[in-house]
Amino acid sequence: MADVQSLDFRIEPSSTPVPAAQRTQLLEDPGFGTLFTDHMAIIRYSEAKGWHDAAIQKRESIAMDPASSVLHYAQEIFEGMKAYRLSDGATALFRPEENARRFADSARRMAMPVLPEDMFLQSVERLVDLDREWFPSVEGGSLYLRPFMFASEVFLGVRPAKEYLYLVLASPAGGYFKSGASAITIWVSQDYSRAAPGGTGAAKCGGNYAASLVAQAEAIEKKCDQVVFLDAAEQRWVEELGGMNLFFVMDDGKLITPPLTGTILPGITRKSIMTLAREEGLEVVEQPYAIDQWEADAASGKLVETFACGTAAVVTAVGTVRSSKGEFTIGSGGPGQLTQRLKNRLVDIQRGLAPDEHNWVKRLF
Ligand SMILES: *Cc1c(COP(=O)(O)O)cnc(C)c1O
Repeated sequence: MADVQSLDFRIEPSSTPVPAAQRTQLLEDPGFGTLFTDHMAIIRYSEAKGWHDAAIQKRESIAMDPASSVLHYAQEIFEGMKAYRLSDGATALFRPEENARRFADSARRMAMPVLPEDMFLQSVERLVDLDREWFPSVEGGSLYLRPFMFASEVFLGVRPAKEYLYLVLASPAGGYFKSGASAITIWVSQDYSRAAPGGTGAAKCGGNYAASLVAQAEAIEKKCDQVVFLDAAEQRWVEELGGMNLFFVMDDGKLITPPLTGTILPGITRKSIMTLAREEGLEVVEQPYAIDQWEADAASGKLVETFACGTAAVVTAVGTVRSSKGEFTIGSGGPGQLTQRLKNRLVDIQRGLAPDEHNWVKRLF
């Protein structure tokens, strides 16, 4: 089945692309997640044929039977990555093989077939190639890529499906948070958990997001930008935001991030920040950090900064932490120096403005 190492992609350019003038106008203010390019990648899987029918084709609706398994049991996984324009005009991806590997890990956790990493990379690269006119003209803009896979088998029995659809969408994006470069306020979810020991917290699956939305709605009601989840067992240890990992900057040069024990999504931005911070001479430790400690350290000044990170917003300062018991401010309440420095270092590497010593940037064309 999954031992087919490469597949030929049919390349079928759309006969009805968005006219150039309209596209240019749309790209001036792309927002996030609402604008899409002309094409998509698609690969089918069935137990009988393995991976087959790979194509880059026009973006269009997909017909689904109402009994498609994903609509009932949520067997679905996804990835999030960006294609960038480098300062020299070339187009690049950031550590795409990490996304390919994580997609495979997520598939295994959700009892889905593993898409060979080479096919994942090809699907993304060929789509970016065909939609190369869709890079936003705005500062900090990128082409956000959304590979995903779901159970398409028409069957209501409860077991891993035998048919799947893998797709990649491309969406021109400006910034992620409306507040731009300022610090965000986060809401501590005390009634809802995102992930539990033995659960799917480390897999990038839609179900984790579904589980987080009621807490996210609560956060919005409390005028917060994001939710921070605590561990499900003790409601004590800080885990992560709904879609970003957390770092705590201490006054002695220590950088703390919660360990990957299976309930936290292993972020590629997290991993990159850990490498860059060590290069800056910081002591990076993966250790549990309690919510009460967070508040106490913020009050005493032992904690000087907190930031969240992920592909969409890269690095975002956390200024205020709010809960039903009250709130506390971190540092000045705005982006701290180290947060800013690490963000700049990462963004400079991603944009080709700083040397890429770790070979993180994959140039496409
Ligand atoms: C995708 C995601 C992240 C960030 O991962 P990156 O690879 O850095 O984009 C963090 N937490 C959750 C829950 C996620 O889904």
